[in-house]
Amino acid sequence: MKIICIGRNYTEHAKELNNPVPERPVWFLKPETAVITKNRPFYYPEFSQDIHFETELVFRVSKVGKYIEEQFASSYYDAIGIGYDFTARDLQSEFKVKGLPWEPAKAFDGSAPISEFLPISQFAELNDIPFRMFKNGTQMQYGNSGDMLFSINRIIAYVSQFLTLKIGDLIFTGTPAGVGPIEIGDKLEAYIGDQLMLSTEIK
Ligand code: ZN
Repeated sequence: MKIICIGRNYTEHAKELNNPVPERPVWFLKPETAVITKNRPFYYPEFSQDIHFETELVFRVSKVGKYIEEQFASSYYDAIGIGYDFTARDLQSEFKVKGLPWEPAKAFDGSAPISEFLPISQFAELNDIPFRMFKNGTQMQYGNSGDMLFSINRIIAYVSQFLTLKIGDLIFTGTPAGVGPIEIGDKLEAYIGDQLMLSTEIK
């Protein structure tokens, strides 16, 4: 299983990090060991002093595919959840300047807490899925799938030119604006619509 993450998929977030809005989807991978399930806590690692949350809709791949055409992409996922793309922003900023790979800042153990998944049939309109995240009871992020620069179908068509998608792979679709730091003792809660999906304590 692999986790494919899309970067800079919301205009306002690209702006807040002073990144240009991309012409093609920006993607990177996290390994299976990044996943945290069942609302287990996240343990703040020693290699960073500036871990940020990024709250993202996550699509679960349900069919093997390569070179998938956009018009057929919707048959390659069957469920939607929500997750955090935890990012060691201090390391990432250093790597960006030096032109180094992002993995140490993005792919570390525990960097991808994810919720349970809701079947796609529960969603009337995939281009209008609101989601939000509260830190210690205060809303930090609000997003809607309709604001993504690249739709899930476009992402699948693009990424599958490079990678074979396999059953159980997860696609993090990028964060809206409002990213910020976490600290030990924080509690993060993420919602899809009005449904609490993911609750994560930082230890
Ligand atoms: Zn992200």
